[in-house]
Amino acid sequence: AAKAAGRNTVTLFEEELRDAAQRRLRVTTELRDAIGAGELVVHYQPLLHLRTRTVTGVEALVRWQHPERGLLPPSEFVPVAEASGLVDELTRWVLATVARDAAGWDAMGLPLTAAVNISATHMGSGTLVSDVNSVLASSGLRPERLVLELTETSVAEDPERAAEQFAELRVSGIEVSIDDFGSGFSCLGQIVSMPAGILKIDKSLVQGIAGVGHKQASQSAAAVETVVSLARACGMRSVAEGVETPEQLATVAALGCTYAQGFVIARPMPAEDLPRWLGSRSRRRAALTG
Ligand code: C2E
Ligand code: MG
Ligand code: MG
Ligand code: MG
Repeated sequence: AAKAAGRNTVTLFEEELRDAAQRRLRVTTELRDAIGAGELVVHYQPLLHLRTRTVTGVEALVRWQHPERGLLPPSEFVPVAEASGLVDELTRWVLATVARDAAGWDAMGLPLTAAVNISATHMGSGTLVSDVNSVLASSGLRPERLVLELTETSVAEDPERAAEQFAELRVSGIEVSIDDFGSGFSCLGQIVSMPAGILKIDKSLVQGIAGVGHKQASQSAAAVETVVSLARACGMRSVAEGVETPEQLATVAALGCTYAQGFVIARPMPAEDLPRWLGSRSRRRAALTG
């Protein structure tokens, strides 16, 4: 019986592998069509500059408006795009969309910076810098308005290559940001020596601030404080990610973070909702301050 069960387990495992491979293939094919068919959308999440309490920028977050499955988060398709080599095309599409949306906000007198997430595979493919520059050239978007985000983990995969490309991007006037800092186990020395201007503190650290136990909360606050002073010592600005409660917001502000981003400020929203959201925010603030 044990042997039979063992064999069944193996068969089940093989079936699962095959199903997963088939699913990946199907998603890859669908995704390739989706980019052309205009099924991808970009939502934007505001970044709050804590000292002035003004929204100075947004992060672009891609979604897939799937005809049957609804609005899919990036976790459902970005890994597939990375594995299949489609992610460079996806990113070029995101960059072009962001450039167009930013031009729209400009026309309304809202000069926001926009951050775009870049995959490690794109950095590895060697076309990142030229892809970004060609979008800037064809859209007229000023490089100062663009921020590129690369995760700590993807930087750690090939730090020399990352450093080279970051330097090239910054020469073009494009800011680089290290995303999800504190979520991996990368070499601290390598990360802080990167030519990047912004350090984004991972939400796991930020959310620990209002954690369950008092001890965990104070340890998380100490970790955030350390990252903030590390960033400052390296001449970098810092962003607290995933800020969900007023308490977390007050703490990251008190700890000296440059910016905060999270649901307590706003959830990611479609480009066309942003001007209205900004307008109602400034009216609320005006009412508060008299
Ligand atoms: P990320 O770059 O770290 O983006 C922040 C994620 O945290 C977003 O998830 C955002 O919706 C979520 N978030 C923001 N505030 C809060 C909060 O207060 N609480 C919680 N629990 N979550 C919050 P999203 O949009 O699902 O994106 C997940 C990841 O997918 C991103 O993490 C990024 O790594 C990747 N991604 C998103 N858009 C793109 C893209 O255009 N290209 C690539 N290559 N990756 C992307
Ligand atoms: Mg990001
Ligand atoms: Mg992040
Ligand atoms: Mg992430």
